[in-house]
Amino acid sequence: LRKPRIVILGAGYGGLMATTRLQKMIGVNEADIVLVNKHDYHYETTWLHEASAGTMHHDRVRYDIRDVIDRSKVNFIQDSVVEIKTEEKVVVLENSQIDFDYLVVALGGEPETFGIKGLKEFAFSIVNVNAARQIREHIEYQFANYNNEEEKRDERLTIVVGGAGFTGIEFLGELTNRIPELCHEYDLDFHKVRLVCVEAAPMVLPGFDPELVNYAVSQLERKGVEFMLGTAIKECTPEGILVAKGEEEVKEIKAGTVVWAAGVRGNSVIEKSGIEAMRGRVKVQPDLRAPGHDNIFIIGDSSLVINEEINRPYPPTAQIAMQQGEVCARNITAIIRNKTELESFKPDIKGTVCSLGEDDAIGVVYGKKVFGAKASFMKKMVDNRALLMIGGPSLVLKKGKFNIL
Ligand code: FAD
Ligand code: NAD
Repeated sequence: LRKPRIVILGAGYGGLMATTRLQKMIGVNEADIVLVNKHDYHYETTWLHEASAGTMHHDRVRYDIRDVIDRSKVNFIQDSVVEIKTEEKVVVLENSQIDFDYLVVALGGEPETFGIKGLKEFAFSIVNVNAARQIREHIEYQFANYNNEEEKRDERLTIVVGGAGFTGIEFLGELTNRIPELCHEYDLDFHKVRLVCVEAAPMVLPGFDPELVNYAVSQLERKGVEFMLGTAIKECTPEGILVAKGEEEVKEIKAGTVVWAAGVRGNSVIEKSGIEAMRGRVKVQPDLRAPGHDNIFIIGDSSLVINEEINRPYPPTAQIAMQQGEVCARNITAIIRNKTELESFKPDIKGTVCSLGEDDAIGVVYGKKVFGAKASFMKKMVDNRALLMIGGPSLVLKKGKFNIL
């Protein structure tokens, strides 16, 4: 009898959580487990703003996938997923293809540009290690060029961040630490640098606790960030961006660097494969399967789960992706063991902590507000917890954040 084959696509938070749980629960005689990922390393997406700003080396945010999988049970394939042929139960990869009996799609999200002109061509997004390295190098290149030009172009030293959601704010927090270092390194006047955050909503971190938001805004403004609220990015050009506030006239902001951090959508592989989705995210059944596809589970940023209390989707977070990874592993194990009852996924939101740079943060943890050094400590503990859940204590010792005092 042929063993069923479980294929997991993506080794991010959701995919690695599902893989490490499955390798513990499933016996070698019960099923084959295959993990596919574009790179041979996993990166902590939640630390990418640090690598992008240059406050943390990009090697610190990644580790070898083979360090956390049990190679006697999991076959790892480094390749890019092109398409899922749902009827034929085949995944097309760039260099080969693979059959599956059960599939876990954990390919993460992609930037949502809402069709805004020029963003894809001229703006950066904090999406993976390659992008983070490029953003860091680009900013440094702008700073390095400034003093070598006869006619000084101050806009080289302007960095625009589109969106004041958690990604935009965390990135700005890192930049406020990095810019003084860069100014020192390249003999630049700090006052020539502009850090501009453009947010379409009337407030920073829309929907978050107003007291904590005020704290974040005043801390970042004190370190030089200019906020343009109620202002939407309308276009991105090689010279900068065009913005509009309500009905007012469109204005240009010249900038050497534009980073778009104004939203995520599901992975494009989902739509390419003809799986029904909203902005690339699949509204999954309570057991995390895609409607109409009994053998396909979708987890993480490419899935969509409704918070019944407010009748709106849960925001795509690592916290949810990891919890989905565990539930999906248990449900696949149940199916393989011919159990009929599958577990329903219920997010257990422990809190949200938003970093404001090296030693500052804001957050709500178990319903309590925290800010400053205490919140920053908690953020590092959250980061270490993710390492612990996937790779155990040895991974925490290797990659953990211990600069906590
Ligand atoms: P990911 O962790 O992004 O993993 C996707 C994986 O799929 C990657 O390994 C990628 O290489 C691989 N992949 C993609 N496409 C292909 C392909 N075609 N073929 C093969 N492999 C592919 N959430 C929180 O809960 N807390 C936070 O503090 C937090 N901070 C964040 C900070 C930043 C700067 C950002 C950008 C996001 C943050 N988030 C945070 C959100 C969180 O990172 C995501 O929700 C989470 O990463 C989603 O997990 P995932 O498993 O769906 O995808
Ligand atoms: P987001 O969707 O949460 O925020 C995007 C922001 O961009 C919004 O405030 C929106 O109003 C704004 N925006 C949209 N279009 C715009 C335009 N044309 N011009 C100007 N502003 C515009 O996206 P995000 O911040 O990337 O977060 C993505 C997900 O990752 C969220 O679920 C978030 O909770 C999670 N995340 C969590 C943390 C954390 O917990 N510390 C950190 C980063 C990201």
